[in-house]
Amino acid sequence: MRVVITGGAGFIGSHLCDLFLSRGHQVVAVDSFLTGSPANIAHLSRTRGFRFLRHDITRPFSVPGRVDAVLNFASPASPEDYVKLQVETLRVGSAGTENALLLAAKKRARFLHASTSEVYGDPLEHPQRETYWGHVNPIGPRSMYDEAKRYAEALVMAYRRTRGVETRIVRIFNTYGPRMRLNDGRALPQFFGQALRGEDITVYGDGKQTRSFCYVSDLIEGIYRLLQSDEREPVNCGNPVEITILQLAKEIIALTGSRSWVVHRKAMVDDPKQRRPDISKAKRVLGWEPRVSRAEGLALTLPYFREQVARSRKGRKRS
Ligand code: UDP
Repeated sequence: MRVVITGGAGFIGSHLCDLFLSRGHQVVAVDSFLTGSPANIAHLSRTRGFRFLRHDITRPFSVPGRVDAVLNFASPASPEDYVKLQVETLRVGSAGTENALLLAAKKRARFLHASTSEVYGDPLEHPQRETYWGHVNPIGPRSMYDEAKRYAEALVMAYRRTRGVETRIVRIFNTYGPRMRLNDGRALPQFFGQALRGEDITVYGDGKQTRSFCYVSDLIEGIYRLLQSDEREPVNCGNPVEITILQLAKEIIALTGSRSWVVHRKAMVDDPKQRRPDISKAKRVLGWEPRVSRAEGLALTLPYFREQVARSRKGRKRS
């Protein structure tokens, strides 16, 4: 296959580039570097079958040659990023997704859209199944992301129903691993950074809110299988093992051997209180479930964050 991956220089996008290339496919990564990074794909610059196109997909684009699949992974994705980039986030979910769909339509390519557990909002159903319609504040501080992703799902379904595009939708739950940005504001990179620097670990609110963290290699395997499957309706991909944010902070302190203390900060508005995917559908239709435990995944991620912290220290000294 020859696949186009929008957001190919992002955290998940770049891991997808690696996976497709390792399985003998060709990859065209498209990225504007708004939140993605050249460092995430630098190792691929001389890989056969890899091409990079620097482009902001909110403007129309084309890709020369055959395209068999378009994977739409371009978007700011951390709460801190999308609050800084509100209009950009809405545009990439709407105009950006449509431009990617138009490319798929033109090339008669399969289209896979990266959606999110945020479409469920602060969920009243727990764990979240794909049939749940969600509980989202349309004007709240997360609305630019949640509603862009909900609109994008509607747009993808409309292109499937009326424009004949063969589509897939994955709803991604919290995912972690190397290539997350150290300072993207999300709990996991933030806690690693704080623990490794010996700073206080900032837990928002009482820390009893829950999340379920999936290691990136598990997630991309699920996405790869979904693309090949016949499933046309959304599928949850994530790790169903749920923990509190306070527990995550403690595990990272223990793993890093840090002397940091947990401090509590004001809770975020509209912060989902609980989140855990029901993955029965992914198990049934994709024969997929995560294999990497949190203990293994966090240990695999630690060296990456150590290096990032060391680099940011050097950078600060130089400036
Ligand atoms: N969080 C926290 N301290 C931080 C960053 C995040 O306690 O420094 C909390 C946040 O309020 C949320 C959870 O950790 O309840 C997960 O947040 P994250 O930004 O990782 O992603 P989300 O799942 O909310 O998209």
